[in-house]
Order: sequence, then C-alpha cells, then structure tokens
Amino acid sequence: MVDQIVLYRAPTTVADVDAIGDWLAPRVDAAVTVRDRFLDVHHSDDDGDGLAEQFAEARVKSPYDRDTGNTMLGTIRYEEQTLESPERAGGVLYDGVGVQRALNGALPPTERDLETLHVPVLDRVLGTWGEHDGRWHKRVNVLGQPALVSVPGLYEAPAKPEAYYKEKQRHALLSGDSPPREVLENQVEGEFLIEDDPRTTDALKGYVLQAVHYLQTGDAFCEQEGCRLFNAHYHEDLVEAQLGEPVFCEDHASLYDVAASH
Ligand SMILES: [Zn+2]
Repeated sequence: MVDQIVLYRAPTTVADVDAIGDWLAPRVDAAVTVRDRFLDVHHSDDDGDGLAEQFAEARVKSPYDRDTGNTMLGTIRYEEQTLESPERAGGVLYDGVGVQRALNGALPPTERDLETLHVPVLDRVLGTWGEHDGRWHKRVNVLGQPALVSVPGLYEAPAKPEAYYKEKQRHALLSGDSPPREVLENQVEGEFLIEDDPRTTDALKGYVLQAVHYLQTGDAFCEQEGCRLFNAHYHEDLVEAQLGEPVFCEDHASLYDVAASH
C-alpha cells in the first residue's frame, strides 16, 4: 500500500505542482508532500551518480530506431549542464523507461520502497517504444517508480486536430516560422493545448492520479472516455477527459470524486 506520495516541482514550466498536490491529497489515502525539482533534491552537482551519462544514454536517436544513446563527451557535458541549471532541453526525446531507471537509482535507498511513490514532474520530452508499430511514442506519463510526468508531453504526445498541422504547415510555407498561438486558436477548430497553456496544471492532475491508481490497483488506465484516468490519444479527448464534466466515470467517481463520496 502506498502511504506516502512525493511530488516534485518543475520550475521551468507553468505547471503548479503544489496545486496538483492540493487536489490529490483529499482523493488518496496517503500523505501527499511536494518537494523542489527532483534533479536538485536527489542529484549531486559533481555527477557522482552518473546521471548525466544515463540521460545521454536514454536519448532517442531516430523515431524508428529502438537503440538509444549518444554518449559522446559533448553530449554528456550538455546533459550535465541541463541537470544543474534547467532550461528547455529543446528537441530531445528521451526513452522514458531509461530515464525512469536512472531516477530510480538516484533515490535514497530508504525511500526506494513501494510505500512511497515518487512523482517527478519533468520538463523533458519522454517516449516509449511501440513494439506493435516499431516507433517511439511521446508520453504524458511513464507509470512505475518513480512515476514520471512530462509537461511538454502534455502538449506534444496526443495528436492535435488535423487542421492544426495544416495551419502550421501553411504558416511555415508563407513565413518560415511557427504561427503564433492566437492564429492557431482562432483558425483551428477543436480543442487542444499548446506550450504554457493556462490549463496545464488542471490537465496534469489526472495524469498524476493515474500514477497512484496504477501502484494501488495494477490498472494503468480507464477505458471510459471522459474519465480522468482515460489515456487520451487525441487532444480533444484529453481536454474532455481532464477538463470536462463529469470528472470521473462512475466506477472511479466512487474512488476519487471527493464531492460524490462525502
Ligand atoms: Zn474511470
């Protein structure tokens, strides 16, 4: 049984992890605490734990290549700098399972049990390899210990409406860069979240709860669209599941809906 849940802040993102903790606490039978950035709390500056090398090893090289890793000295240095002073590690996709293994190894042995669930909220883009289709898929979360939650994954993992990609392509052809947020929001029908979206914190709550639910029940996701435990593959479904009503399906409302059960 999980009796302690530790969330970690992601200071380079707009995600308010303390607010996520406040939402989670009354829904679970465990003490919820919030700490600073995982890589500040559990990583030594001299990189004695070899985390930089492990991040370098977890770099995805190509969307269709299962083998990961670029451990050239320059890359490891870059990873060292990014661990110490976080900035958006732009354009790099990491093997989520490799990062999970690295962060598990960074936990102090006294906290590496199944009674304590660690949930680092990260500013990295994470993926998992799809055996069925032979390519990497970006993820919002990677369940397990620790359970990783990726803020950029929220924007990038689920597919956006087709019109979004068309508008982006059209704008790139005309001006050579990405269209501003207002253009995308006004020109593209349908709901989707883009970088630094003001709904980020709200949308991440269900993904953090999924991590707890998985450890408690062994079930990863809910099959019911619209439930906060639903694993959305499209942004429109994500917005519906995380931000729409009802918050949970009937089964999960009995477990997690504070308003319904009290
Ligand atoms: Zn459900």
